[in-house]
Amino acid sequence: MASVVTVAVSFPSSSTVPTRTSFSALDRVPFQKVSFQYRDFSISGRGVSIRAQVTTEEPVTKVVKESKKQDEGVVVNKFKPKDPYTGRCLLNTKITGDDAPGETWHMVFSTEGEVPYREGQSIGVVPDGIDKNGKPHKLRLYSIASSALGDFGDSKTVSLCVKRLVYTNDNGEVVKGVCSNFLCDLKPGNEVKITGPVGKEMLMPKDPNATIIMLATGTGIAPFRSFLWKIFFEKHEDYKFNGLAWLFLGVPTSSSLLYKEEFEKMKEKSPENFRLDFAVSREQTNEKGEKMYIQTRMAEYAQELWELLKKDNTFVYMCGLKGMEKGIDEIMVPLAAKEGADVVTIDVHAAKGLIQSGYVYLDVRTVEEFQKGHVDATKIINIPYMLSTPKGMVKNPNFVKEVSSACNKQDHFIVGCKSGVRSQYATTDLLADGFKNVKDMEGGYMEWVKNKFHVKVSSDIEEL
Ligand SMILES: Cc1cc2nc3c(=O)[nH]c(=O)nc-3n(C[C@H](O)[C@H](O)[C@H](O)COP(=O)(O)OP(=O)(O)OC[C@H]3O[C@@H](n4cnc5c(N)ncnc54)[C@H](O)[C@@H]3O)c2cc1C
Repeated sequence: MASVVTVAVSFPSSSTVPTRTSFSALDRVPFQKVSFQYRDFSISGRGVSIRAQVTTEEPVTKVVKESKKQDEGVVVNKFKPKDPYTGRCLLNTKITGDDAPGETWHMVFSTEGEVPYREGQSIGVVPDGIDKNGKPHKLRLYSIASSALGDFGDSKTVSLCVKRLVYTNDNGEVVKGVCSNFLCDLKPGNEVKITGPVGKEMLMPKDPNATIIMLATGTGIAPFRSFLWKIFFEKHEDYKFNGLAWLFLGVPTSSSLLYKEEFEKMKEKSPENFRLDFAVSREQTNEKGEKMYIQTRMAEYAQELWELLKKDNTFVYMCGLKGMEKGIDEIMVPLAAKEGADVVTIDVHAAKGLIQSGYVYLDVRTVEEFQKGHVDATKIINIPYMLSTPKGMVKNPNFVKEVSSACNKQDHFIVGCKSGVRSQYATTDLLADGFKNVKDMEGGYMEWVKNKFHVKVSSDIEEL
């Protein structure tokens, strides 16, 4: 059983909506655990998976212990595009101010409990109408913005947070995105064709004592609103949060801050368990006068974040604009390096010479990445630093142990990954564990390929 404690939703100021909208508060709403067939769904093999406007969500950090499988009973693809669920729009509200660059709408659809989703999943929407070839429009995916109980607390609705796509093409014509405009224009009572639910990469950690760090830009806030409603606005017998939820939300202007008042209410309610930081790039700057992007805000807490990242039950989720991961890595990598011994990074030419002179090449990408193609080296081993799991990419908890059982502390290594980020973390960990002769290869396999050095495409790993 679960009940909705607070079902008050507040939206940022806009002349078109009241600044505060309260939904009916329900008491003791049954919470059903659903159990359907598992079918894996990959949004785009993360690293960082990229959508049209937003990158999909990637847990990018350490997840070591889990008592139960996180995706147990999670339903995917109950409704397919050929036979979608037809819901109705119950509410559709613009949640950005009139002077915001672009409109974002919050909408609630009826599901009558037929689309059983979990926090962190997405649904597909098949917009009405036909495309230029006379065929029905293809579905677009949207991250679910409501908890499994839904905004009305009865498990019979699903909510989305949708940015209206409008852009000017190369011919100077104003083009409207098909599905986002269809959705933003829906009126209460209109029908909407829903597919899914899909996605298991962004499910919430089961551990109620976990630290959950959420990094969102724009409508990337959707899955985190769903998490945070479950955490702070609902009561569940099997889930009572006592960890730390820390949300960083980046937007261009304060008039585009999404669900600000809801989050402030959560903070007021649970100041010990919720931290909230906004980064408003066009209005705020840091001490150096630099624009306040999400990574700029995070940099203010870099050491604190790093300490949290080292904990086994810290989960980091990222959802938003393409490119945010790079900025965030730029903060974290130096901290990782500072923690351990100094990482020596060498370019691919130097790495190639050392590999030819007998250095071991330690490829820390996933097995799948490795099998698609790898550096051609006589001595090469593949031990992933990150593992691809249904929750996304998580740190391999046995990385150092696995390297230790394959090699000696005195062996000479070159560590490489895809682009040079994972290899820095891996090199740091190995140095901290006492490996003496480890060097990190700058730019990773991508740089190797760019230089047209020999590669091999095989799943065979040569023995040392
Ligand atoms: C897993 C996932 C979750 C998502 N969640 C959300 C969400 O919660 N909220 C949300 O708003 N969106 C979300 N999206 C994006 C969403 O699926 C759609 O891509 C988005 O709404 C645009 O669809 P549309 O039909 O309006 O645009 P379309 O008609 O499909 O047009 C999009 C195309 O227009 C072109 N285009 C776009 N901008 C420009 C430009 N500036 N210049 C030139 N060409 C351009 C590009 O070719 C682009 O592919 C998500 C995507 C994924 C994959």
